Amino acid sequence: MQNLLHNLNPEQLAAVTLPAQSALILAGAGSGKTRVLTTRIAWLIQTGQMSPQAVLAVTFTNKSAKEMLSRLSSMLPINTRGLWIGTFHGLCNRLLRAHHKDAGLPQTFQILDSSDQLSFIKRLLKANNVDDEKFPARSVMYFINGAKDKGLRAAAVDAYDDNDRKMVALYDLYDAQCQREGVVDFAELLLRTYELLSRNQPLREHYQARFKHILVDEFQDTNDLQYKWLKLMAGNQAAVFAVGDDDQSIYAFRGANVGNMSAFEREFQVKNLIKLEQNYRSHGHILDTANALIAHNSKRLGKNLHTDAGHGEPVRISESSSDIQEAQWIVEEAKNLMREGSSGSEIAILYRSNAQSRVLEHALFSAGLPYRVYGGQRYFERAEIKHAIAYMQLMDNPHNDSAFLRVVNFPTRGIGARSLEQLQDAAKQYGISLYAAVPYVPGKAGNSLGAFVKLIEGARFETQNLPLPEMVQVVLDLSTLLTHYQTEKEGADRIENLEQLVNAATVFVSEEGFGQNAPALSGPSSQAAGLLALPGGIEIIDADAALPMVMSPLSAFLSHASLEAGDNQAQAGQDALQLMTVHAAKGLEFDAVFITGLEEGLFPHENSAKEESGVEEERRLMYVAITRARNRLYISFSQTRMLHGQIRYNMRSRFFDEMPEESLKWLSPKVQANWFGNKKSAWDEAPEAGVNAIAQGFSKNTGSGWRIGQGVSHAKFGEGVIVNIEGSGSNARAHINFGQFGMKLLDLSIAKLDKI
Ligand code: ATP
Ligand code: MG
Repeated sequence: MQNLLHNLNPEQLAAVTLPAQSALILAGAGSGKTRVLTTRIAWLIQTGQMSPQAVLAVTFTNKSAKEMLSRLSSMLPINTRGLWIGTFHGLCNRLLRAHHKDAGLPQTFQILDSSDQLSFIKRLLKANNVDDEKFPARSVMYFINGAKDKGLRAAAVDAYDDNDRKMVALYDLYDAQCQREGVVDFAELLLRTYELLSRNQPLREHYQARFKHILVDEFQDTNDLQYKWLKLMAGNQAAVFAVGDDDQSIYAFRGANVGNMSAFEREFQVKNLIKLEQNYRSHGHILDTANALIAHNSKRLGKNLHTDAGHGEPVRISESSSDIQEAQWIVEEAKNLMREGSSGSEIAILYRSNAQSRVLEHALFSAGLPYRVYGGQRYFERAEIKHAIAYMQLMDNPHNDSAFLRVVNFPTRGIGARSLEQLQDAAKQYGISLYAAVPYVPGKAGNSLGAFVKLIEGARFETQNLPLPEMVQVVLDLSTLLTHYQTEKEGADRIENLEQLVNAATVFVSEEGFGQNAPALSGPSSQAAGLLALPGGIEIIDADAALPMVMSPLSAFLSHASLEAGDNQAQAGQDALQLMTVHAAKGLEFDAVFITGLEEGLFPHENSAKEESGVEEERRLMYVAITRARNRLYISFSQTRMLHGQIRYNMRSRFFDEMPEESLKWLSPKVQANWFGNKKSAWDEAPEAGVNAIAQGFSKNTGSGWRIGQGVSHAKFGEGVIVNIEGSGSNARAHINFGQFGMKLLDLSIAKLDKI
């Protein structure tokens, strides 16, 4: 038997082997929280204190769930397939599938990912003649999701004015329409499960008795509903083991509530609060940088983090004149690292905003460096894949109007806007789905629509006994998607992606064990959790037993596609650089990390910079970014950047002033104008002096009488103050802070400025 405990420090050991009571492990980045959580599951199973069925573990992404399962299978001689380890969404999906009747959902309900949800709402607004200037689809979506994340249905939302009341009415309409179509959004997965278990006592008691240990990673990012869900699941029997780091709470904008940590401590009567203070991930300079930065936040639970690993390399800082130059610099550094033996997959390039990835991708592509983008355009979100999936969704659940509209005339089959209008009218009149309304449309339009229905019915009939991958192949052929893209100029990529779908289905079937007889769980004390008799003669069919009966491989694959749209993984074995947002990097670690775009307005982001709490969240985000690195950390910023079609002139981020100079190494800029004119930059010789000069309001007269600190007035931006001047003579440009209009870089020889 493997000794699971020998690689733990005393605090970690104490945490892993705690008695079966609720506990909170509060610890900084890289201190082994996830490792402790995983080891505890293995240890509880190995020592026979818990059967594999009794564990419910919640991770933040599908990727971390997979990682946890693979770590567990290397620690334990059991088949980990079927263990209840997953994201909130994934676990709720399983429960709702198994108990779809009790939850009031069709067996083949389908999941809307965020982009599906947005187009669904657009359609709803249009059908109900809602003014989308006053009620933009995105605001309606935030309103609905915000309410659901708090556990509120429309009837329970307080409305204070007409605007609120309209939003509430739209929420109600939205829910009714989802129900009619048999679709659920991400937040609904949780809310529906929560309602199911709170209303259905036998079911609740069954799962409360089953899941004796509930373990939650990244607890600081749970929202109100997730917390309520956990409380419900736990009842008063389960031991809840929560691990988290208040300094890494970065999802407040999605309703995460770091206050759940203190609520948890109180409401679960936590007697065991363990702090882990040794960091095993990063070298000293990296850790010191993270610690110094986060010390600027005021609301902290407070903890220390130290490492035995030595200082290591300093954190390298680079300034570029443009985002293109920044990307070039990253390419060069990445090449150096790879020459020194780093593998590409151990190098991460992080950015605050998805829009930054385009320039980076272009530079990597031109340099022939393989890379992989997480997030952004994910495989299952590509148009051609969405089309293929829509055909399958209709075969599984013809009432999904979104899927219907996506492919009814794609590839084109002569069904025009007029026909669809007739169809929509009929559907509205009878309160049925578009699919069901087809027979009510007369004439030529009716014939074309009828032919589409026949196509779907035919595909369903032809594929009913086929294994999933073959089914996908038939759908690709019958839908004529492949032939359609053959005629398109840039269709080759799309065809390749579509063909990948057959492979994706093959991998899915083998990973999920469809068509194999092996029981989902085996190992110590595992009995297939089947029919369980409860007192009072009520029989509950546990999800493990129910799922194979109610969930076809097709349904399972479709939910996988929607859930996986949340976080895509690098392909195994591919040695590619990893590109992702800082949010997506949570919980991960890499040998080398580049954090790009450290500029005011971008990082910290302009949406957050107005309020102190917003800046604190951005600082936590930067803390997360820094602490992803093991050995090498690079931070870059650029004077100009093309974002959303506009050139922005940027000030370097305030975060540079919050990091310890002794851990940083400023790399000399290559070709660029700088704040000190065209002479050799002050950064080159004495970076600290440069910083100080600026901080003290370095007074530079350009010859035209402009100086730092000068008050100015501009026709459009109003009054402002010159913060910096770069270049001289006719090349002089000034950074001017215009208050509510923010920081602008203006050419002093062109801009019409008055001194005030
Ligand atoms: P984060 O806050 O970023 O999620 P974490 O606290 O979950 O970090 P882990 O990912 O569990 O930290 O661990 C960080 C790294 O340190 C991992 O590579 C892990 O294997 C290693 N590690 C943790 N504990 C030990 C230990 N006692 N001895 C050696 N390595 C360890
Ligand atoms: Mg972790």
